[in-house]
Amino acid sequence: MGNRKQESMSFREGVDRMVDRATLAIGLDPDLARMIRACNAVLQVKFPVRLEDRVEVFTGWWATHSAHRLPAKGGLRYSPFVDQNEIEALASLMTYKCAVADIPFGGAKGGLVINSSAYTEAELRQITHAFAMELARRDFLHPGTNVPAPDLGTSSREMAWIADTYKTLYPEDLNQDACVTGKPRNRGGIAGRTEATGKGIQYALREFFRHADAVAAAGLTDGLAGKRAVFQGLGNVGYHTAKYLSEQDGVVVTAIIERDGVIVNEEGLNVHDVKQHLAETGGVKGFPGGVYSENGADALEMECDILVPAALESQIHAGNAMRIRAGMIVEAANGPVTYEADQILRDRGVTILPDVFVNAGGVTVSYFEWTRNLSHMRFGRLQRRYDELRGRELIATIEAITGHRVPEEMAQRVSKGASELDLVRSGLDDTMRQAFQEIREVLKAYPAIKDYRTAAYVVAIAKIAQSYYDLGLTASPKPVS
Ligand code: NAD
Repeated sequence: MGNRKQESMSFREGVDRMVDRATLAIGLDPDLARMIRACNAVLQVKFPVRLEDRVEVFTGWWATHSAHRLPAKGGLRYSPFVDQNEIEALASLMTYKCAVADIPFGGAKGGLVINSSAYTEAELRQITHAFAMELARRDFLHPGTNVPAPDLGTSSREMAWIADTYKTLYPEDLNQDACVTGKPRNRGGIAGRTEATGKGIQYALREFFRHADAVAAAGLTDGLAGKRAVFQGLGNVGYHTAKYLSEQDGVVVTAIIERDGVIVNEEGLNVHDVKQHLAETGGVKGFPGGVYSENGADALEMECDILVPAALESQIHAGNAMRIRAGMIVEAANGPVTYEADQILRDRGVTILPDVFVNAGGVTVSYFEWTRNLSHMRFGRLQRRYDELRGRELIATIEAITGHRVPEEMAQRVSKGASELDLVRSGLDDTMRQAFQEIREVLKAYPAIKDYRTAAYVVAIAKIAQSYYDLGLTASPKPVS
């Protein structure tokens, strides 16, 4: 776990303080600011599960931070260390993230105290089923109110089990598939969800590197190619981010930190091979393509261009922030930089792309999956072949007018109709670019705001305040930007 001992405040207080910074910067009505910060509802459940030779009682939470838009959306986390404070903090981050990415959802988060590796797959299925029953019975699992997604320690497998539980309870609900996102493809999932957060981070970084002034302010040279990156966590988010950046953008991954230590290779690690080794052995120790050290946390302080914490919250804290030697930090994980560390890093001029913006790809594609489930049709089904036909007609017209044959490879590229994956990627890319541009507009409009986190919160708060205003819950939101 991080080093919260050195912090004077909890994770949730830290997030609230970051929000306060933004509300103060734009002079938002303090009553409205308090309304926005408050966590709307938290359910705690303690439920018994009869396993083969014993009965165990499990503790879980679902926090709905904001229901100004419905459903409230958030990841479901399985971890032995999860607690209510963390779930509330993560739920609030989801509210702001959805607003930054312009997704019409409220924010939520779920957590179950469990060390998954201590249970068989059949037991995990049983426990997940029981937890989902607890949530559904209390209206904390429903396509229209609270919709979980994968997070730390969960994947499409758990989402399929949750969907099954919901379907058993409510077989008549036509929209039952939409009760959870991040499902497997053949169970109502969408193309491109598994890797969505990593892909979104790649799109966000590409957009960042399109702005020469932003790159220069981070003390970096132009272009992603050749940038040296250190990753912490090679799970869903870390792996896909590292894979895309190294394979498609020429980023050199010099270190990967995992639970058991760090593997370093200044020439660049093969991300796919490290992942394979991790899957086979449970750690990075013994990976032949790099030098191993058991002190993973120290590697966060390695010199690099881009530091990508993609594991847990509070990894960069008051105790190590002064020693971070990265040009920029990309918050792939939620809350990896504490409030106090954020202050230190801001003073030191380290650029941070904040979680509420940069890791929004997962919830963005979850939104696409949810709308696909409600429409009961995969994206592109109606127009794909029609687009192909139009493309072919265009090629035939060009050939008739010019008297020249268009090479088949070129003709295929021009006439190809968009698949679901093409559309998902296009929507994700657009979302990340748009969000970054909105954040930059706030930086321009409020010269006193110097960092992307505060600017991202301003983007979010402006949209949420407007919703509260539309609902008549406040007299006058302070107009922002
Ligand atoms: P995951 O469980 O797939 O991966 C987490 C990885 O971190 C694992 O490989 C684990 O071994 C490693 N890890 C755990 N403790 C570590 C430590 N102390 N040091 C180094 N490595 C450690 O989880 P994930 O879905 O990739 O989520 C990671 C982070 O990203 C979380 O903060 C999560 O909330 C956030 N996030 C996830 C998504 C998503 O779509 N899955 C979306 C947005 C944000």
